[in-house]
Amino acid sequence: MSKPIVAVVGRPNVGKSTFFNKIVGRRVSIVEDTPGVTRDRIYAEAEWQGHHFALIDTGGIEPDTTDVILSQMRIQAEIAMDTADVILFMVDGKDGLTSSDREVASMLMRTGKEVILIVNKVDSSKLPEDFYDFYELGLGEPIAISAVNMLNLGDVLELIIEKLPKEEADEDDDTTKIAVIGKPNVGKSSLINALLGEERVIVSDIAGTTRDSIDTPFQRGEDQYILIDTAGIRRKSKVTGDIEKYSVIRAIAAIERCDVCLLMIDAAEGVTDQDKKIAGIAHEAGKGIIVVVNKWDLIEKETNTMKEYQQDLAKELTFMSYAPSVFISVLQKQRLNNVIDMVKYVSEKRALRIPTGQLNSLIADATMMKQPPSDKGKRLKIYYATQVGVKPPLFSFKINDRELMHFSYARYLENKIREAFGFEGTSVKFVFREKG
Ligand code: GDP
Ligand code: GDP
Repeated sequence: MSKPIVAVVGRPNVGKSTFFNKIVGRRVSIVEDTPGVTRDRIYAEAEWQGHHFALIDTGGIEPDTTDVILSQMRIQAEIAMDTADVILFMVDGKDGLTSSDREVASMLMRTGKEVILIVNKVDSSKLPEDFYDFYELGLGEPIAISAVNMLNLGDVLELIIEKLPKEEADEDDDTTKIAVIGKPNVGKSSLINALLGEERVIVSDIAGTTRDSIDTPFQRGEDQYILIDTAGIRRKSKVTGDIEKYSVIRAIAAIERCDVCLLMIDAAEGVTDQDKKIAGIAHEAGKGIIVVVNKWDLIEKETNTMKEYQQDLAKELTFMSYAPSVFISVLQKQRLNNVIDMVKYVSEKRALRIPTGQLNSLIADATMMKQPPSDKGKRLKIYYATQVGVKPPLFSFKINDRELMHFSYARYLENKIREAFGFEGTSVKFVFREKG
């Protein structure tokens, strides 16, 4: 299921990142750290009373040095308006109302989005005298918090949950949502146009979507797909500044909503740091992922070129060796059919359910072949495992002591599960529960 997006906007130093870290610190995480990927401060998954959302700190992106605060804030607000379901507009209770606050408020007011006005740095129960000025912003009742002292954060979370779009029951379950992600100029629009040119495009808006991005449904055979526009692919961004960085945030928004992410890479350029970052996010979010190497026509080929290229990809993206790759040329219409075939394949793998009996005999074999780790005379014991979720596949292990479950042993178990059941193109998630 796609997660709603909550974006934090505000002047530098109002306390956005402090707030962000406090909120994210509370999350109950079942996602293990991804080696080789630096966790991005600008984005994190958050959870409150069973509701999940993605939190984005738009201030975490460093603007070009020439940017003045105001233009920086305009950009932040624009990204938030483009991508978020709920916008948290943070102001500083110590500084009082400033003119750039007013400027941003008037931008935010024009969007149809839900905005929550947060006055930070109200460190005691006494409201500052000029607190009531913030009503002038026309964004409704301001909510006073102290990020540092963690005062009223619960109220903010409560409000966020209230304003999040209602989760639709079985949100078009048969439809596979595809996001095409990649650096500018890798050929995303060309691929989208080629795919849509070949398939039957259903020209109608999807009822009930609250987002303004253009999602294009299409059908192939019996299968329904939706291509998610990563905002700014077809419509050129108004944002000047460093577009590449902002495109990461737009990509995150698309990843959150998709089932399968096509990470597009320019064959001549190879995998860039930004590609790795995006791949890491798709991995953590548990999305299907396919590496699409485009412009294959530009590469001089010998017998083993593709194989060698594949090996290089595996080296660059070690944490997601499960991701299949496809080598295409949109220009020469080479292997374009394989892209959707692969999407279908991967989305089936994400939905795979392994019967408990089969799973446990596999685990029993695996622990016999390689003894579980031990520490100070105590050995890890796995009592049983069950698959508790799909999309992505989620496995729950009942064990004696979580401390004993080493990352490397979890990785070993994952490999065994993959050897037996595949799960190509999808991350698999584990939770470990102690018997008690
Ligand atoms: P950002 O630039 O908006 O991300 O702001 P930061 O989170 O980096 O915070 C800027 C400064 O404000 C830091 O020195 C924080 O310690 C301080 N700060 C953040 N939240 C609070 C708060 O609730 N009360 C007080 N007094 N200071 C705060
Ligand atoms: P986007 O910014 O990722 O949407 O990229 P575009 O689809 O706008 O493509 C950028 C440029 O790459 C255009 O000039 C395309 O004609 C070119 N391009 C796209 N696909 C291919 C390909 O397979 N081979 C070659 N040689 N060029 C391509």
